[in-house]
Amino acid sequence: MHTLPIQQRIEWLFDLAYRHADEFVMPEAFLARKRYLAEHPTAILVLKCMDGRINIPIATNTPAGIIQPFRNLGGMFNLGWPHLGETLADAVNKSVNRGRRSLIMITYHYSKGSERRGCAGFNYCTDAARAHL
Ligand SMILES: [Zn+2]
Repeated sequence: MHTLPIQQRIEWLFDLAYRHADEFVMPEAFLARKRYLAEHPTAILVLKCMDGRINIPIATNTPAGIIQPFRNLGGMFNLGWPHLGETLADAVNKSVNRGRRSLIMITYHYSKGSERRGCAGFNYCTDAARAHL
C-alpha cells in the first residue's frame, strides 16, 4: 500500500472508511455493541496518535464504537490542558453516572522493522515518546 501513488492511497483510504461505515450501521454490529457493553461494564478511553494507525478495536478485539478515542499529534497529551482535562473528566463522569468504572489507555506506535514507519509526532524517536510519557 505505501508504495502506491498518493491518489490511489487516498482512494483506498476512502473506500476503507466507507466499508467501515457500512459495517458499523448494520443491525448485527449494533447488537454486538449492546451485548459487549452489557457484558463489559468498564468504559474504555484511549489516548492515541491522530494519524490513526493504531486500530484499537482490532488490537483489543472489541466491536467498533466501544472504545472512546482521544487523538492528538504523536499521542502527546498533557493532563494540564484545560480542554483535555475537561473532556476526559466529562467522559469519566458520564461513566460514573451510569454506575460504570473507566479505564484510560495511553498508546504510542512505532515500527520494529523501520524507524521511519514510527510516529512522526515524536520525530520517529521512541525514546523521546517514552520520555514525554
Ligand atoms: Zn503517530
